[in-house]
Amino acid sequence: MDFVLPSEPRPVRLMNTVWADRGGVHDALTTPADLARWLTATGLTAAEPPATAADLRTAVTLRDALRRLAALTTDDSRAAARSALQDAEAAVHAVNEAAVAGPGRATLQLLDGKLSLRAPEPAADPGAALAVVAAEGIDLLTGSGVLNACYAPGCVLYFVRDHPRREWCSTACGNRARAARHYQRHRTTRTAP
Ligand SMILES: [Zn+2]
Repeated sequence: MDFVLPSEPRPVRLMNTVWADRGGVHDALTTPADLARWLTATGLTAAEPPATAADLRTAVTLRDALRRLAALTTDDSRAAARSALQDAEAAVHAVNEAAVAGPGRATLQLLDGKLSLRAPEPAADPGAALAVVAAEGIDLLTGSGVLNACYAPGCVLYFVRDHPRREWCSTACGNRARAARHYQRHRTTRTAP
């Protein structure tokens, strides 16, 4: 199985390892091998690193913390998308813990007159690689409100709004949402007195 929405920024891709289809909500990170694959798929490590059960716990904790804070910043009301970690203070703590765990440090950079965060170079170690994701997550969560929850029926994903009219995480979700609206409208018409 491929990881969903590959063009999203890494922190969003980590959040979206919780995804859903008709069968319900799924977790794409259930084994250390899943994590190794994810780290390579997202360009954090060149070759699949030997990930341990502890690395997996770190990744899942960071993921759940980022999902909790994404829900906070997007006023997410989707019940199915609720993070396993509900305490927002604990989520902030978890992201900070993960960010300082790696040997690399994010640095500030001035590019074309704009300040931004430069993540450390890709690392071979899963812990260091996840520290990069945590640093990028801090940048994303404190940025200019481009993070969005997808409200298509059954979707639990987040996405970064790359143009102002983007409403859904994917074309597939847009189509399903339009079909649901169409159905709802017609059903309402038929049952009206
Ligand atoms: Zn969606």
